[in-house]
Amino acid sequence: MTRPPEPRHDAIQLRTAAPAPPKRSLSQNFLVDRNTATAIVTAAAIQPSESVLEIGPGRGALTFGLAEAAARLVAVERDDALAPWLAEQLASHGDRVRIIHADVLEADLAALLAPPGPWVVVGNLPYAITTPILLKLLQHARRFDRAIVMVQREVAQRWCAGPGSRTYGAITVWCQYHCSCRVLRKVRPSCFRPSPSVESALVELRPHSDALPRARDETLLQQVTRAAFGQRRKRAVTSLAACRVLPLAREEWEALFRECGIDERSRAEDISVSQYVALSDAAGRARGASGP
Ligand code: SAM
Repeated sequence: MTRPPEPRHDAIQLRTAAPAPPKRSLSQNFLVDRNTATAIVTAAAIQPSESVLEIGPGRGALTFGLAEAAARLVAVERDDALAPWLAEQLASHGDRVRIIHADVLEADLAALLAPPGPWVVVGNLPYAITTPILLKLLQHARRFDRAIVMVQREVAQRWCAGPGSRTYGAITVWCQYHCSCRVLRKVRPSCFRPSPSVESALVELRPHSDALPRARDETLLQQVTRAAFGQRRKRAVTSLAACRVLPLAREEWEALFRECGIDERSRAEDISVSQYVALSDAAGRARGASGP
């Protein structure tokens, strides 16, 4: 991949004369720091052949730079005033740039991330709905090459945590089951207006190729991880044996842990993503064997 040039400084447009004041209900903390906006567009490293889906373009702090770099840009904005206003500001790009006035949680991502790709997802996400957006993106992880998103710093830490860490949880396992995740940079509250009360971080998610082990039953994988983290301070076998959705006795869980090479004394946070995949596959087989 050839390294695209940094966006021209004047390609980043921080428009202050927007049609409406920021709405808290839509988590509108607009980027006002040009260096950070430039760094995000640079981190996205858009190739001239790539298409971009931007989530929550707002006043266009990233949109103008992305529009200049990408073959196509589709941006989904929920705000009734900002969506038509931004579409007008970008009209000179013609059909290459579409601002869709919609709730991203209701949008048909399969249709939006359709060929021609490859697609790159970019967004300074609305923090109130970061998790539902992540879950929706993960459902469509095969449709994009990478996502570069701004989230609360502590959310970023949860997505990118390693086993054994305090922030490693069920969402970490689900996120890293689909993608490799890394924090690209931290961002201070003063880079936004209004300033959020929390620190932020820019994260890169790169969906795994098919080469990695896939769970036989992904719903079961989610149930196993959620149940294991249900009582964080206890051993994972204890939490799993207490879970009604997975009707296996403690001794059966202990046997499955041994079968998967997991220490029976492990807590949920000590178990790696690939061990969770092995455990959920083994639990599926055991459940099938003992079922009616
Ligand atoms: N990208 C702009 C920036 O960096 O300055 C705005 C980022 S602001 C944190 C989040 C944006 O997401 C806002 O423009 C907000 O209106 C939009 N938004 C909030 N909820 C949304 C939803 N459900 N669907 C689409 N856009 C949404």
